[in-house]
Amino acid sequence: MQDTFKHKGMRKQLINELREKGINNEQILNAFDAIPRHFFLDLIFEQQAYSNQAFQIGAGQTISHPYTVAFQTDLLELKKGEKVLEIGTGSGFQTCILCQLGAKVFSIERQRELFLKAKKIIHHFNFTPRLSYGDGYIGLPSFAPFDKILVTCGAPEVPQALVDQLKVGGIMVIPVGEGRDQIMQKIVKLEDGTIETTELGVFSFVPMLENKVK
Ligand code: SAH
Repeated sequence: MQDTFKHKGMRKQLINELREKGINNEQILNAFDAIPRHFFLDLIFEQQAYSNQAFQIGAGQTISHPYTVAFQTDLLELKKGEKVLEIGTGSGFQTCILCQLGAKVFSIERQRELFLKAKKIIHHFNFTPRLSYGDGYIGLPSFAPFDKILVTCGAPEVPQALVDQLKVGGIMVIPVGEGRDQIMQKIVKLEDGTIETTELGVFSFVPMLENKVK
């Protein structure tokens, strides 16, 4: 895979577009500059890789829109060295953005094909997140608690196992809703174990599926 001047130019345009849409976290915009999104896509999508679109990545799944990746990442209020659990590795693009921002990333994917593909590309960047093949509903109890949890598939409800694995004061960003559309929720875990939820608009994700590791 090559990262040409043309790709870099298209990337700058995408970053301008993200800025216009309200993303003003420079660290996140820099991460988008550092990670070439076309590396995560089939060659047929190479020319469109820097448009604000979702694309098929295999196994009936899609890479999220760049704006969605930036928006969810922004909501996490990430600090270097924090432990982040991502549900839905998919293409591995979001995983790499989190690694680039200095997070200690743990990511789970339930589609074997995507898990294997993402592993290769992520290692190409010399990042070393812990990638797991399994069901994100269960989370990763043996590595809990996490400072942040990011769910990148549409969850019918907030899985209690994930709330349990979030630190007190930690943030979970999760699109919640059955069917095509979900409401983006930012959840903060309080001292007594309960959660405080803020709703942040409608998004459309592939569904979070339970007990069906493929
Ligand atoms: N973060 C990804 C988004 C991929 S789409 C990216 O940047 O490309 C969401 C992914 O969630 C899909 O790959 C899907 O297979 C996965 N997924 C759905 N339900 C899951 C579950 N219960 N556990 C883990 N992964 C799941």
